[in-house]
Amino acid sequence: MKTIIIGGVAGGASTATRLRRMDEKAEIIILERGEYISFANCGLPYHIGNVITERDRLLVVTPDKLRATFNIDARVQHEVVSIDPKKKTIKVHELSNGREYSEKYDKLVLSPGASPIVPPLPGVDLPGVFTLRSIPDMDKIRDFISEKHPQRAVVVGGGFIGLELAENLVYRGIEVTVIEMLDQVMTPIDYEMAAMVHQHLDFKHVRLALGDGISGIEQNEALHVSLQSGKTVDADMVILSVGVRPETSLAKSAGLKLGARGAFEVNQYMQTNDPDIYAIGDAVAVKNIISGTEVNLPLAGPASKQARVVADHIAGKDVSFNGVQGTSIVKVFDLTVASTGLNAKQLDQLSLPYKSTIIHSSNHAGYYPAASPMAFKLLFAPDGKIYGAQVVGLEGADKRIDVIATAIKGGMSVYDLEDLELGYAPPFGSARDPINIIGFVAANILRGDLQTIDWNDVDTIDRSEYAILDVRDPEELAIGEIAGSIHIPLGELRERVKELPRSKKILVYCQVGQRGYFAARVLAQMGFQVTNLNGGYKTYSHAVCPQANFDTFEHVTISSREEITETVPFNPADSNQFEVDACGLQCPGPILKLYQKIKEIEVGDVVTVKATDFGFTSDVGAWADRTGNKLVSLDSDSGVITAKIQKGAAKKAEESRGTMTQDKTMVIFSGDLDKALAGFIIANGAASMGHKVTMFFTFWGLNILRKNDPPKVKKNLIERMFGFMMPRGANKLTLSKMHMAGMGTSMIKGIMKKKNVNSLEELIQSALDNGVTIQACQMSMDLMGIKEEELIDGIDKVGVATFIHASDESNATIFI
Ligand code: FAD
Repeated sequence: MKTIIIGGVAGGASTATRLRRMDEKAEIIILERGEYISFANCGLPYHIGNVITERDRLLVVTPDKLRATFNIDARVQHEVVSIDPKKKTIKVHELSNGREYSEKYDKLVLSPGASPIVPPLPGVDLPGVFTLRSIPDMDKIRDFISEKHPQRAVVVGGGFIGLELAENLVYRGIEVTVIEMLDQVMTPIDYEMAAMVHQHLDFKHVRLALGDGISGIEQNEALHVSLQSGKTVDADMVILSVGVRPETSLAKSAGLKLGARGAFEVNQYMQTNDPDIYAIGDAVAVKNIISGTEVNLPLAGPASKQARVVADHIAGKDVSFNGVQGTSIVKVFDLTVASTGLNAKQLDQLSLPYKSTIIHSSNHAGYYPAASPMAFKLLFAPDGKIYGAQVVGLEGADKRIDVIATAIKGGMSVYDLEDLELGYAPPFGSARDPINIIGFVAANILRGDLQTIDWNDVDTIDRSEYAILDVRDPEELAIGEIAGSIHIPLGELRERVKELPRSKKILVYCQVGQRGYFAARVLAQMGFQVTNLNGGYKTYSHAVCPQANFDTFEHVTISSREEITETVPFNPADSNQFEVDACGLQCPGPILKLYQKIKEIEVGDVVTVKATDFGFTSDVGAWADRTGNKLVSLDSDSGVITAKIQKGAAKKAEESRGTMTQDKTMVIFSGDLDKALAGFIIANGAASMGHKVTMFFTFWGLNILRKNDPPKVKKNLIERMFGFMMPRGANKLTLSKMHMAGMGTSMIKGIMKKKNVNSLEELIQSALDNGVTIQACQMSMDLMGIKEEELIDGIDKVGVATFIHASDESNATIFI
């Protein structure tokens, strides 16, 4: 039997070698268009970053070796251009000499992979613009870096490959900007989990634009990248990493059917609609075993398993491929980001009822050196079936996601996770592994012992119905808190319970959720209706704080950021030095240890804290700011964070923060034209002086942000009435005084034009261009029935806590 395999990398090479193991007599030919077979595409970004130092390590096998070891005829630079399924022949184009020939097959296996999507935009073909799929692509990027010494790179797309590239370009000393069209990077995980990745990218000085795509690239002195928002960024190189498209150009000539995302449709044996033609890997649509839907999952694991199934099936074995569940993992600098199964967005799309929980647990016993925390999210059905999980952490994240992946495959429920018996000794885990703990929490929720609320519901709860209770210790409050919380540390809860209003439900929170749960149990048994904040303040604060840092970099460039930490006027030789080892402690542990030490030392003394909880990177700055201490430097290496804090240099701290302490926040409540003009004139003025400005539009102020010609949106009667009565957009606003049936308003507009004063629309646009953050109050939008689509572009829809956070950071809040 003669089997021809098209594509000689992950799926193709695996099919060939497995088939040889099953059938010594088979004739096996691999036809590969590229110059290399069986290379490690997953390793390409790491050679760009010099993490994998030797290029040859990526070349797993050569055609000669395949022939010698497996008797496989592997032909590189041979492109298959068409298939004739009736005659069972293929037409091959030999790229090195232009020769064309036909080859007969008994069985044909298509493993042509997927090609990087290149958006049809001006400038994508300019020199210095790259995609990454193959060894030659990688060589081009490496050569460019060696020859041109680029200082700045733009990576378009915040998926796996985009982030791996961002990290590796940083390792080459290049300043990287990631542009991501969605409101988060890494779509397999949910927003609040991705928030930790956003903050880690910021910590690693990667500039990040979210909710924005590129609209074109021009070649000036540098590559001038325009974004859809109108913003621009200059770079010396651009890498397009916006996703891949299944390579199915051969489908047409062969009459093969296509399924999800235009990938080859296959049955459980990976046969296309022609039983003698199989397809595998990035180019096929397969069943998701949890949702039952057809998906295209371009990952190496499924490709290699499908290869085995195909080889066995060709060799006459009764085997089948049962589907995928989407297990993936990626390293983003110090973080591991892993997921399996379905996420919240997918479950919502499928209208599947589900619950979820987030825990923050250590990878191993906290008392054993170098424990590090992980954020661990589990999604499950009301009957306990596990839908999916996500982990963002350091060591041990991979192990936990793999256990959950196995549990899903084995059809286990959250109740099984409770009593899974996993290997334990202090260096490896805990007697109650994070897997068990997440099982306990999920089972508590399902058994009715615990109610939880998610971070994104906190800002929209009705405060007349809920009291918010913070059970953290007083020292932890300096990290930040939810506005309007009642503060009773857990240890004092029983004696101070009278301070809680009996008439209200209680939303309780602590730093990571555990003490909140303990408090919830105390209060529930005292007759309160109580709900615990999922993932605690840690998850909440990560998710509500600004996610993108693109505009920050406008005023604070990467190099000036370095200066912020380096030019602090402190001389270590003059100060007493202290060390605190907080490795292994979970947030807020490192902050509490730091606080204890700061209490003991003199003003001017310096404490070096080592920690492994990456929450500490954002907490320590906020804590130092609020407590009048100075964060002198902050860095991380191999998962260990090192922060230097100088005691009590509050004044110096303010000076060194430069533009940051001059932040301005504005609440725009009014929808009157004159007040809106005043607001935007002040905002533009402050922004032009380098101040960070946040404008929060609420109630009538929201009308300023409405589009003049909004798309049709679904509204109920009351919402329609509100919409009808209120001015639609900046152009329709009227003066607060002397409107005079429209005369006054027209007059003022005329005078403004004459005197060359920008119109309100122009002022709004210039504010956006100047990096002013414009926020629309989610609650007012809901109340007034204003939908997101009705608002102009570039607006953040936020809860009040997000604004309060900005207001806390500012030195003035203006109410208009
Ligand atoms: P490929 O391995 O891409 O092989 C397809 C081959 O077919 C190509 O070499 C192509 O030249 C050839 N071909 C196409 N058409 C023809 C034709 N007409 N004639 C002849 N030859 C043809 N996955 C993970 O799971 N983890 C990772 O960490 C990971 N990292 C990645 C990093 C990068 C930079 C890239 C590009 C991919 C990464 N992947 C990763 C994805 C993984 O590499 C793919 O899922 C896997 O290679 C798919 O195998 P495949 O056989 O379908 O396609």
